[in-house]
Amino acid sequence: MIKIGIDLGGTKIEGIALSDTGNELYCHRISTPQDDYQGTLQSIAELISLIEAGTGKKGSIGICTPGALSPATGLMRNSNSVCMNGKPVLTDLQDLLQREIRIANDANCFALSEAVDGVAKDAAVVFGVIIGTGTGGGVVIDKKVLVGPNAIAGEWGHNPLPWPQDVELPGPECYCGKHGCIETWLSGPGIVRDHELHNSALFDTRPLDAETLDGKARLGDEYANETLQRYEDRMARSLAHVINILDPDVIVLGGGMGNIKRLYDNVPKIWGDYVFSDVVNTKLLAPVYGDSSGVRGAAWLWNS
Ligand SMILES: [Zn+2]
Repeated sequence: MIKIGIDLGGTKIEGIALSDTGNELYCHRISTPQDDYQGTLQSIAELISLIEAGTGKKGSIGICTPGALSPATGLMRNSNSVCMNGKPVLTDLQDLLQREIRIANDANCFALSEAVDGVAKDAAVVFGVIIGTGTGGGVVIDKKVLVGPNAIAGEWGHNPLPWPQDVELPGPECYCGKHGCIETWLSGPGIVRDHELHNSALFDTRPLDAETLDGKARLGDEYANETLQRYEDRMARSLAHVINILDPDVIVLGGGMGNIKRLYDNVPKIWGDYVFSDVVNTKLLAPVYGDSSGVRGAAWLWNS
């Protein structure tokens, strides 16, 4: 049987069919109907029909969404496709498709994709993080997503920044209502805010982002370099916390910040100062599948 993965995004819905060995048999993407819950479900169903007609085979179905199903209510929560929030997405889709499906959030699908046949394919315990406008995290153990009774395993973005320095307290206000969350420091907007705070005299009106900062640092801009050094220390502390609890073999870094290559060298040089061990064998690695991790991970939800 083929494995069908669907990645439900705010602007597009991507579908893929994988063979049992992970070969891509079929791939198609469509636009996401805007603010239309029923229309979105119908589009997913049509995409699956198209894939099954194209491959001539019926498949298992896994779906990657930005939000997660509440274990208390079964309703979608925290999705940036807001029309999905508060809806029984799993049961509605199962009714529509007349079969069992599996749903996971994007960070879990990312971690699973890399753990099954990506950069962490030889690792038993994988922590996957997606750092862009937010900071999502997921845990995969022996190629299975760890969900947990609260469906929150791996979501460390709203823990406080560990081992804070005096100047980092109380930390920036977070949309979740607290201060100093890891997300407020490590997200793309977080590093830009930190750079502007330390360099108000240099601040110009050109829009800045993390990639531009990285480019400036590579060209020898010492202010951008200092910002990245502060960032690397904060990322090292945040990941050291995870290593102390979970002790993963591999941490995979996805999202926009995963494109900043120096992090893979510099962060592991620092995290030993914070991990309660004489050695740190955990590896920090770049993903193999990048933007395709969501849709591939969705297909792999039926790996077992
Ligand atoms: Zn927060």
